[in-house]
Amino acid sequence: MKAAGGIMGFYDVVIIGGGPAGLTAGLYTARAGLKSILLERGVFGGQMINARLVENYPGFPEGISGAELGKFMYQQAIKYNLETLTTEVIEARPKNIYKVSTTEGNIQTKSIIIAAGSEYRKLDVDGEKRLTGYGISYCATCDGFFFRGKNVAVVGGGDTAITDALELIQHANKVYLIHRRDKLRAGKLLQQQATAHPKLEFIWNTVVDEILGDKMLSGLTLYNVKTGRRSILKVDGVFIAVGLIPNSINFSNILELDNEGYIITDQTMATSAAGIFAAGDIRKNSACQIASAVGDGVTAAMSAFKYIQENGKGI
Ligand code: NAP
Repeated sequence: MKAAGGIMGFYDVVIIGGGPAGLTAGLYTARAGLKSILLERGVFGGQMINARLVENYPGFPEGISGAELGKFMYQQAIKYNLETLTTEVIEARPKNIYKVSTTEGNIQTKSIIIAAGSEYRKLDVDGEKRLTGYGISYCATCDGFFFRGKNVAVVGGGDTAITDALELIQHANKVYLIHRRDKLRAGKLLQQQATAHPKLEFIWNTVVDEILGDKMLSGLTLYNVKTGRRSILKVDGVFIAVGLIPNSINFSNILELDNEGYIITDQTMATSAAGIFAAGDIRKNSACQIASAVGDGVTAAMSAFKYIQENGKGI
């Protein structure tokens, strides 16, 4: 696909990220007749492919698996001539037009929709890197099954931590929920379900100091932030659910981000750079839901269309 000068193609819109926001944006821009390419470094569908059952995406009253929903979204988008490429985006630079550099080469484009989502926040403690995949997981839906009849811990106090704990309880013998405060951030309904469950034990005001184990995880060193006491909790696995980090680092040179790295947009999904739009979990104030990501994708696509209509001839 590489052409002279290292430019692989000239597009109206480059979409970065193949989750629900990116696939929806691609469906809309391609169907509107814009020459569009979607760049994805991993699997099309994004994080939703890890969800065993999505019950809150409208149109599927019995729920649908995240993998199947992702497959449908992909099939629908490419039906309208959306091009796709598996590649890692290195950076985007404004010139007369934007140049998007990827591991496969460079692409020129009039506009960009960034829908690159987020990745799991790490605890950054000893043992975490070494034992990831050997007792440490960031996805209860993906790995919970392996802990049938075992004792596991979940770290975090948000919706993900509680959802994970409630899912793990179906497989595990016992689930400990370790939270750094004495109040959960998770929604009321999830809190009620979790606190009522006899197999779920809360360990409050506590952080993980170290993850123990040689080849496989064997336990956690815990630190109580109120009493200053350290203790060891023997578990077979730990699920880390302490939030997400937006994949925005490659755009920090050209876009305004908030303190946590989320891209700042207005209601039209426009960012601080003309012709660049953001959609889904990567933008500040996203609801972090599949349905809201889809809505963002539509808005971003329509804004990119309007931008090209108004500015395209001069670009
Ligand atoms: P989140 O809401 O940001 O919660 C992260 C949790 O991890 C917080 O309780 C936080 O503690 C804790 N934490 C952060 N850094 C930590 C560290 N270094 N050590 C220990 N604990 C740490 O993240 P999330 O639960 O992944 O949710 C992300 C978004 O997705 C939210 O908008 C959520 O509503 C949404 N979501 C929705 C559903 C659903 O609708 N069913 C399910 C999953 C996620 P503090 O509370 O002390 O800050």
